[in-house]
Amino acid sequence: MSYSTPSDFLDYDRDHIWHPYTSMTDPLPVYLVESAHGVRIKLADGRELIDGMSSWWAAIHGYNHPVLNAAIEQQIQSMSHIMFGGFTHKPAVTLAKKLVDMTSESLQHVFFADSGSVAVEVAIKMAIQYWYAQGKKDKQKLLTVRHGYHGDTLGGMSVCDPVNGMHTMFQGVLPQHYFAPAPECYTDDSGNTSSSSSGNTSGNTSGNTSGNISSNIGAVEKLLQTHQSSIAAVIIEPLVQGAGGMRFYCRQYLQALRKLCDEYDVLLILDEIATGFARTGSLFAYEQADIEPDILCVGKALTGGYMTLAAVMTSRKVVAGISADGSGVLMHGPTFMANPLACQVANASIDLLLNSPWKTTVQSIEAQLKKELTACKELACVEAVRVKGAIGVVELKNPVDLKSIQAEFVQQGVWIRPFNKLVYIMPPYIIAAEELTKLTSSIFSVLSRK
Ligand SMILES: *Cc1c(COP(=O)(O)O)cnc(C)c1O
Repeated sequence: MSYSTPSDFLDYDRDHIWHPYTSMTDPLPVYLVESAHGVRIKLADGRELIDGMSSWWAAIHGYNHPVLNAAIEQQIQSMSHIMFGGFTHKPAVTLAKKLVDMTSESLQHVFFADSGSVAVEVAIKMAIQYWYAQGKKDKQKLLTVRHGYHGDTLGGMSVCDPVNGMHTMFQGVLPQHYFAPAPECYTDDSGNTSSSSSGNTSGNTSGNTSGNISSNIGAVEKLLQTHQSSIAAVIIEPLVQGAGGMRFYCRQYLQALRKLCDEYDVLLILDEIATGFARTGSLFAYEQADIEPDILCVGKALTGGYMTLAAVMTSRKVVAGISADGSGVLMHGPTFMANPLACQVANASIDLLLNSPWKTTVQSIEAQLKKELTACKELACVEAVRVKGAIGVVELKNPVDLKSIQAEFVQQGVWIRPFNKLVYIMPPYIIAAEELTKLTSSIFSVLSRK
């Protein structure tokens, strides 16, 4: 069979290839992409879309960036890959130093993983090994909150929201962990917290804020009190819960959580795979709570969306704990660990970010999203609008029909991929004001017809 027209490719794709979270027998339609430059995605049929998704948080500098292209092209000239067992290389060491330098003081050690989900697996193993090596062999469970998302591998899934993570289907194989209610406090523009469960920015006047935070964190404390001897770590996405519901919560919750972890002798794993690299307005979201994690996972935007790479970082304390029984061997080692192409494009992406005025860039995206998405609050189908950093979320009262709404957005010339009740955007930071307006006005116009 020879492929000449776009529909040849699309036909074969439909019959043979799984896409994320789709059925093989009743697939959702997909669009054939020809190329992507900056914030524009070009389809094979000639249409052009403005990107609102950054390819799921990753392409922060846009597509086909000359500096990132050059980094990969240069690295190919020396080597594309070399095993990390017994070897090291400059791209990996350089990247480790950049990550150590840009994260909190205590995080001094780096494990390179090949995807976000694998990073979460490694973080969980680190926490369990930490206690095991110190003779606390019962500490093998995790504590997390509802509406979380930590990846699709079995270990990651086991700490995803039990309902939208579809735990029932995999009950026999998933480890059972402890779940506290999702955090329910939201920081508004003025830095005040409100207690709306949906994080609705409209009509919330302070009120019983602290009571709400404390009752929520109280549930965590109760679980820690009861199960302290079997809990190795708490794992959570700081300030923004991503794929588990696009929910935001306040820094006071994180601060209280850090205190509880210290008090009850459990480690704190922060999953910044979505929030890392300035998405929420600080390089890492945890900085806004002025706390430090014991273990940190980063991924997604690490390579600027070019290649799959993630990293797990931890402290001297955790490293010492893992080595306490004399072995200190961390039981993990993926084939493509620290791939040099991925490390080198990550180095270039981090330099681009740090040498850019990222803080004001994200602030101005945030201000524009707040201003322009507010209009959606008046629409009958809309439950809430919320914005944090370069993330804009419109939560609907009912789940969308993905097939039809996706086509409507494409018709508008934008790439926005809703899930469930959530229409949300997290555009590349390089997006121009007019392009961002095109995204927000398309959301308004599509939703106004619902
Ligand atoms: C995407 C994501 C993951 C999983 O990363 P993959 O690279 O898709 O395996 C884990 N945690 C969070 C918070 C994420 O957003």
